[in-house]
Amino acid sequence: MMMTEQLSYHADEKGYYGDFGGAFIPEMLYPNVEELRSHYLDIIGETSFQEEFQALLRDYVGRPTPLYFAKRLSEKYGTKIYLKREDLCHTGAHKVNNTIGQILLAQRLGKKRIIAETGAGQHGVATATVCALMGIECIVYMGAVDIERQAPNVARMKMLGAKVVPATSGSKTLKDATNEAIRDWINNPVDTHYIIGSVVGPHPYPDMVARFQAIISKETKKQLLEKEGREDPDYVIACVGGGSNAAGMYYHYLDNPKVKIIAVEAAGKGVSSGESAATTALGKEGIIHGSKTLLMQTGDGQITEPYSISAGLDYPGIGPMHAHLYRSGRAQFVSVTDEAAMQAGIEVSKLEGIIPAIETSHAFAIFDQMDFKEDDVLVFNLSGRGDKDLQTYIDYFGL
Ligand SMILES: *Cc1c(COP(=O)(O)O)cnc(C)c1O
Repeated sequence: MMMTEQLSYHADEKGYYGDFGGAFIPEMLYPNVEELRSHYLDIIGETSFQEEFQALLRDYVGRPTPLYFAKRLSEKYGTKIYLKREDLCHTGAHKVNNTIGQILLAQRLGKKRIIAETGAGQHGVATATVCALMGIECIVYMGAVDIERQAPNVARMKMLGAKVVPATSGSKTLKDATNEAIRDWINNPVDTHYIIGSVVGPHPYPDMVARFQAIISKETKKQLLEKEGREDPDYVIACVGGGSNAAGMYYHYLDNPKVKIIAVEAAGKGVSSGESAATTALGKEGIIHGSKTLLMQTGDGQITEPYSISAGLDYPGIGPMHAHLYRSGRAQFVSVTDEAAMQAGIEVSKLEGIIPAIETSHAFAIFDQMDFKEDDVLVFNLSGRGDKDLQTYIDYFGL
């Protein structure tokens, strides 16, 4: 009998989302990635894992995060706007959902040592936090330039007991820190787990991280049912750096075409300015950090330095799920400049009393590019709080 293949926007068993994904890794990394790949679904599926994961999300992270009806913002734009409050998670953003999941997985694989890469330091802090929680050694690789720029997060990681190791090669930023972390992992295949911070990297990382962030849309369905009498909004909206907060917001709606998906990228100083991080607008197919996806590159395939005022969106690629959502037309991609994002951040602060992270502010800047109806229900993923960005807001507006 012929089986009709079900069209899905989730990863297949080889980690492909349409044409994108997979695991393009050096042979020396194969044992590490293969160990993870062959165990992750079984471990995540164990009842004892789920019980511990859910208990920590509840008691340590503070979940479920509220789904808040933003009355004044809704009035201003003539549509119904809900905010999924990931800014209220412990450590101030969604990233901790993933690091909790991965530390529990690492423990079950018998790992004694955690490594991570970080750019602005947010993922480094979320990783150092869960390592402190579990009493596990933590080494965070960070570009020497980023260590200079992000002193408060470096201090946080140190307070949490992590060792911050500067990456001094290349541009001394995120991609160099990633190279150092990969080198470390190759040298320590048995006792070390590498916690990647977004839905990027070789299979199984994109799928694994998406599963840990999926709690965001799982809670949203239940909360929206209580508030609106239906589980499904008309739109789910999130900013995309690597794509993890967006993957969590979309996850349980991916295969439901009635829910429209909007992904917001950072246009920096303008898509054609040469200083941008609008990957789908500018990117081409290529391989970055072990996965086939869309990334910003020169004609001969060199990765282009991205730019955004927001450190969390300053990444030259997007995860393979998002590349597929773009290519297939399932999601609409919108890009937003620094200026528009900063204005939107101020607007949400004044209208709702919530200061968003600058990453999140990008998502709130889409209204002049979109046409929403009065009875449309929109859910924005409010990925993080703006405290970490206060100095950038101060400098930008002369506050
Ligand atoms: C890191 C970060 C992002 C971007 O990362 P994604 O993996 O795309 O979610 C967005 N918002 C906040 C608050 C962040 O800290």
